Amino acid sequence: MSVETQANHRARLEKVREKLAELKLQALIVFSRANIRYLTGFTGSAGVLIVGREGWAWLITDGRYKLQSKEQTKGTGVKIAVTRLTGKVIANTLKRTGVRHVGFEGRNCSVAFFESLRDELKGTRVKLESVAGVVEELRAVKDENELSLIRQAAQLADAAFEHALKVLRVGMTEKELAWEIEAFLRTHGADAIAFPPIIVSGERTALPHGQPSDRKLQKGDLVTMDLGATVSGYCSDLTRTIVIGKPNSEQQRLYRAVWEAQQRGIEAVMANQKGKKVDSIVREVLDKHGLKKLLMHGIGHGVGLEIHEMPSLGQRSKDVLKPNMVVTVEPGVYVPNFGGVRIEDMVLVTNGEPEVLTRSPNSEKILSV
Ligand code: ZN
Ligand code: ZN
Repeated sequence: MSVETQANHRARLEKVREKLAELKLQALIVFSRANIRYLTGFTGSAGVLIVGREGWAWLITDGRYKLQSKEQTKGTGVKIAVTRLTGKVIANTLKRTGVRHVGFEGRNCSVAFFESLRDELKGTRVKLESVAGVVEELRAVKDENELSLIRQAAQLADAAFEHALKVLRVGMTEKELAWEIEAFLRTHGADAIAFPPIIVSGERTALPHGQPSDRKLQKGDLVTMDLGATVSGYCSDLTRTIVIGKPNSEQQRLYRAVWEAQQRGIEAVMANQKGKKVDSIVREVLDKHGLKKLLMHGIGHGVGLEIHEMPSLGQRSKDVLKPNMVVTVEPGVYVPNFGGVRIEDMVLVTNGEPEVLTRSPNSEKILSV
């Protein structure tokens, strides 16, 4: 780990401590793996991090991660305890540190674990309070190092889409095309796929998150490909809908409307913009084309260590965009028994014009192969 990364982790832990002071909490129990990775560098699958307001932090993990946890958190000031991950162990750590008012990530903790922790703390003065979003809010704004990894992941997604266009053949199944994309990502620098590629064709493109099936690609099909890579933990997310052969007029009409909605959405991605407003702008365009009812999801989300993270661009969003946030803009329309179209790009919020990070071909004419 570089000295710079260690400094980043220390600075992030300090920001959590500032937040704890605002919330009048003395410690925060972090369960989310992405949050633990973000704060300490630890990538193991089992761990609980307790961040104390007074400058200390404990990472509790099990024997499998004894060496890895020490190695990955070197220089961050985080102390490691290798033991069993039980409510009792967490309770004892809290008791030893003398904290009383403790926040925990309720959304990332099972009811069983919470109950065991609560039972172990019975009769003590430690009070638990469920809190949400403390670390996620920090994660939403990326630093230069994170942005460089996200850019690499975005480039890989573009390259995988280009590869998919080259290998796509009539008669190939959705599953085979999905595997081509997955194999390409894994052999061209991704540490993993960000999520199993969503490849749907023909009428199945009406399923926003359909799983690749044994359906064979046919002439005249719409094909939607939604894919992403992870590079050093950071994700990318790209969607294109194409047509095999010549598009019919309805396919082109739907595509043109979604494309226009996406362009207006991308233009609206700017600092101080409300997430809800971007969603509304996109919906208005689809409404103009009589398609608003066919959009069945929010039109975008943050991307980083997780494929879906803060901020969200949807009607229920309370998030406000800030420079160095990375969001997707991904309107889609889905017509039962006909098919659907989705176009998704990743966009960086700046102090001026939005910067589109994914660069796959995107014009008002549906791409045909
Ligand atoms: Zn996607
Ligand atoms: Zn997405």
